[in-house]
Amino acid sequence: MGDKSMKISLNKVLAVGTNFSHEYDFGTTTELGLKCLSERNGEKLKDVEIIARNEVPDFKCKCGKQPKEVCSQCVFEIGEEAMLCSQCAKKHKCGEEMLLPVVNSPRMGMCGYTGD
Ligand SMILES: [Zn+2]
Ligand SMILES: [Zn+2]
Repeated sequence: MGDKSMKISLNKVLAVGTNFSHEYDFGTTTELGLKCLSERNGEKLKDVEIIARNEVPDFKCKCGKQPKEVCSQCVFEIGEEAMLCSQCAKKHKCGEEMLLPVVNSPRMGMCGYTGD
C-alpha cells in the first residue's frame, strides 16, 4: 500500500496465494494483476531465466485474418478490435504512422512499444 521502496526482496512481500499488482512505465502506465502461485527454495540462479510466459491470445482482425498490427489510437477506444491484418491496416482510417506491431505483451500498442 502506498509508495514504498523497491529495494526489498520479493520473498519478504510475497507468499504463495498473494494477489498483487505491478505498475510500470509511468508515461503510459500498464497495470498487471499478478498472483504468486508457487515458490522455489534453493540457490540463486546464475542467470535470469524466463520461467513463465503468457501464450499469445488468439486475436483476430475483424475480417478474420491473423492481425499483424495494432492501431495505437484505436486501442484505447475499442481494445482488441484495433488489431489489423496487413490488408486492413492499409485501409485503416488513422494512417500508417499510428500502427504498431502485434507483440506478445500487455504493452502492445502502448507508447511506441514494438516488443524490444
Ligand atoms: Zn485507428
Ligand atoms: Zn483484416
